[in-house]
Amino acid sequence: MGDTPRVVVIGAGFGGLLAVRALKRALVSITLIDRRNYHTFQPLLYQVATAGLSPGEIAAPIRWILRGQHNVEVLMGEVQDFDLERKTVKLPDLEIPYDYFNCRHWREPRLFRPRRLGADGSRPQDY
Ligand SMILES: Cc1cc2nc3c(=O)[nH]c(=O)nc-3n(C[C@H](O)[C@H](O)[C@H](O)COP(=O)(O)OP(=O)(O)OC[C@H]3O[C@@H](n4cnc5c(N)ncnc54)[C@H](O)[C@@H]3O)c2cc1C
Repeated sequence: MGDTPRVVVIGAGFGGLLAVRALKRALVSITLIDRRNYHTFQPLLYQVATAGLSPGEIAAPIRWILRGQHNVEVLMGEVQDFDLERKTVKLPDLEIPYDYFNCRHWREPRLFRPRRLGADGSRPQDY
């Protein structure tokens, strides 16, 4: 992918996958790193816990999910550190350079956010 900007996305949860897909038509070279090689659809974990579904039904290989996107490579590995000055992401045996960086491991779950009062103090609103 030559001189195209290098984007590193960490985490193939909802946040990371959304970020990668948003860049599908962008002229960038994306490296998506996750410590697992599969994405878990967490909202259905309860059904697995209660034996309504098998684990395989709520997990899918990350490479399979992104199979139609040609500007991304998927890397399995645990990110341990960043070097913000040198612009690198550090894995145990690898250092990956980036121009842009997106760290998406653990977004606030919208479901469990508290509600707050509206500006006029009259009614609760989601935020
Ligand atoms: C049981 C349950 C039910 C839920 N139900 C709902 C719901 O109904 N509606 C709703 O909106 N939300 C729900 N949520 C919350 C929702 O699933 C999360 O908000 C969402 O998954 C967070 O997405 P994320 O991409 O930020 O993080 P995650 O989905 O947690 O993804 C993080 C990814 O980063 C990877 N990672 C973490 N650390 C590293 C590292 N150091 N190196 C490499 N990779 C790393 C992980 O392997 C993982 O794949 C639920 C959550 C649970 C647990």
